[in-house]
Amino acid sequence: MSGNIKTFKQLINNTEVICRVNFNGYPKGMFEQDWHIFQMVNSGTWRDPSQWPTEYRERLKAYKEAEIYFRDDIHDKIRQDVKPDSSYRQYQDVCAKLVARYVFYLVAHDMKTIIEGLERTWVKIIIKDRQEIECYAFHDEVSSLADQCYIQLSGQFLLGRVYAPWLYKARIDASVIDRTVSHEMQHQVECVRGLYEREYKMQDKIKRFMRIHPNQWLGCMSQLYGIFCNIYTEGLATFINRRYGARIIFDLPKIEKHMELLEKIAKTPDKEKSIRIYEDEFRPTFYNGEYYVGYLMCCTIGINLLRQKPGRFKAVHILHPKDEWISFKDLDRFLHEHKVVQIEFLDQETFNQTYTLLTKINDQREFIRLYTRACDELGLTWPAKFYDFKFFDHLKRLATKYYERYSRVIEKKYEND
Ligand SMILES: [Zn+2]
Repeated sequence: MSGNIKTFKQLINNTEVICRVNFNGYPKGMFEQDWHIFQMVNSGTWRDPSQWPTEYRERLKAYKEAEIYFRDDIHDKIRQDVKPDSSYRQYQDVCAKLVARYVFYLVAHDMKTIIEGLERTWVKIIIKDRQEIECYAFHDEVSSLADQCYIQLSGQFLLGRVYAPWLYKARIDASVIDRTVSHEMQHQVECVRGLYEREYKMQDKIKRFMRIHPNQWLGCMSQLYGIFCNIYTEGLATFINRRYGARIIFDLPKIEKHMELLEKIAKTPDKEKSIRIYEDEFRPTFYNGEYYVGYLMCCTIGINLLRQKPGRFKAVHILHPKDEWISFKDLDRFLHEHKVVQIEFLDQETFNQTYTLLTKINDQREFIRLYTRACDELGLTWPAKFYDFKFFDHLKRLATKYYERYSRVIEKKYEND
């Protein structure tokens, strides 16, 4: 069994960091089946879903969800009859080494806080089947402790994003790997700061309340509360993993739609229904929902820091609809006029200052306060400024109001019985 576990150690600022990559959840047989699928799909043999053999259908779906279904660059290599030797052992070696390298790099740079005051810390990367973890990466905040970070990664994701490009093209999808690992590691930073502890306490409270009052209305409350927390934690994690991204996209119609969906969730007393709205409409993809909303809030706080700097930052660099510089005081008018605007991402120094500022705060209320102040100082108005305490309270009031109405209906129902 131990052959499936790779261990790497590095001393960083007097802390021994041990990164363990465990492949037990993605064994040889599974890898070989997926590797076969990868060959068949990328050679073009199974390109069209109608050509998929029935016995592979479920696994092929997992492929598609990991965004590694078909790659032109690898298809070209296979067509040129490039046939490198591959093996499960090699897959493990390549992926484990690479993931450990990213982990050490992050701990030594952006995420030093997770080793502060520790003699030793563990980062445990668990490789699993994509179908089992239902996403390609996540930080397991329930198992993680201050000195134990648990991250689960999909085996197919590594196969398609690291191993196959390494084998065929002698390179990997570095930006995707960096984005993924840094996003999940950021959750460990939050875990160390005790953020999840607070979230779980609140969710426990909600759950306890639901046991005493078994009506379903609180279902939407817990959904809503989860979103409130995620706006900060997922927003910040997205802000980190997009730190080398070139642009910030302000999409006002998307923002409006998202805020309407939040209201819709707050008006839905039925738990199952509110979950469905959340999963199907609010957060169908990674660039939506609390990820997008929270990320934009972080960016706005950063843009306001930029405004306060002397010299060359007196204006905002617009990349789309066309390349131009506009003054900060014209930003709101410009956003409303063009609706979808791309702005150059923050320079490294401003990014670092924003990040430092954001990690000093401890809950979403402080986050909202910081964001609201940034908007006001930048002169942003709805929907460029889309979130504040008024809206936060409005959502909670809506949820409560619908609860009252709903409970009256229930009372009536019992009266009639
Ligand atoms: Zn996340």
